[in-house]
Amino acid sequence: MSAAARAGGQSVVEAIAARGSGPVPFSVEFFPPRDAEAEARLWRAVRIFERMNPAFASMTYGAGGSTRDRTVRIAGELATETTLLTIAHLTAVNHSVDELRALVGAYADKGIVNLLALRGDPPGDPLGAWTAHPDGVEYASELVDLIDGLGDFHTGVASFPEGHHSAPDLAADTENLIRKLRAGAEYSVTQVFFDVEDYLRLRDRVVAADPEQGAKPIIPGLMPITSLAGARRMTELSGSRIPADVEERLARAAGDGPEENREAVRAVGIDLCTETSERLISEGAPCLHFCSLNFAKATSEVLERIGIDTRGALAPV
Ligand SMILES: Cc1cc2nc3c(=O)[nH]c(=O)nc-3n(C[C@H](O)[C@H](O)[C@H](O)COP(=O)(O)OP(=O)(O)OC[C@H]3O[C@@H](n4cnc5c(N)ncnc54)[C@H](O)[C@@H]3O)c2cc1C
Repeated sequence: MSAAARAGGQSVVEAIAARGSGPVPFSVEFFPPRDAEAEARLWRAVRIFERMNPAFASMTYGAGGSTRDRTVRIAGELATETTLLTIAHLTAVNHSVDELRALVGAYADKGIVNLLALRGDPPGDPLGAWTAHPDGVEYASELVDLIDGLGDFHTGVASFPEGHHSAPDLAADTENLIRKLRAGAEYSVTQVFFDVEDYLRLRDRVVAADPEQGAKPIIPGLMPITSLAGARRMTELSGSRIPADVEERLARAAGDGPEENREAVRAVGIDLCTETSERLISEGAPCLHFCSLNFAKATSEVLERIGIDTRGALAPV
């Protein structure tokens, strides 16, 4: 175990608290790029966001072998070559416990002590039946336990304002989130949602079921919609939904020509994300987590509109 992990490092919860009474903290999520061109685009976005001083940045974890190696490398570079507090996502997909231990160690060697512990989805069919690795873990709560036993890490987990697609009901879904928090997770980040009521009800359910765990931050996941087809694909793959009123506003902007009316759809997407962000701020959300898709522009526009100092980041670089 590296010195960085043994000594501990700033946690996500500490990073959020350190922002004090200033504007609401925000964070950004990146995903592992597939090739050199995509990697260059990721780095352009990283450098733009870096100037806006997010509370943290996270790197998702892919399913394929070569993507995985690249993920560890790039997450390491985020941690060592930028000023960003880096969270690495970690999933149980196709990994034995020994491999998971080695991965945690690889992140720790790069000084990454914040991990988001996830079960992951079955490769190829995200909504399909889940089969654990024979020598792996079945659920994210076990991954939280595993990480906890490996050193001084700070772990977060996923939460689902609409309920996870395979949970029998919202009560079981809430119970699972509480299980993960009791296992030692310090906060959760939600699946992207478009109806703030879903987020508020999740928060209420956790507080009602377990006030101690309910005090831990539930960080809302947001994504400015820039294409109706893209938003539909994203919700289909994650088993979530676009509320009817949101769909209607986007469809109205798209009219008969989603391609020709791309800019109009994008403008509505930015409006919607701004409205959601403003409502979440007024409801006391601890931090706003933006899925950037490795682009900075749309998220920056939302941030600027909610009064975050974007430090000229929207100007040409
Ligand atoms: C913020 C966020 C980030 C994500 N990042 C990634 C990523 O980087 N890479 C990736 O591949 N995927 C990612 N995902 C997707 C995630 O892996 C899937 O949604 C997955 O299906 C569930 O993961 P989980 O960690 O919530 O699983 P779990 O908490 O293990 O839950 C999975 C299902 O099992 C049920 N369950 C859990 N424990 C028990 C138990 N003891 N008994 C009975 N049922 C139980 C739950 O209710 C749920 O239905 C992310 C999701 C979110 C919200």
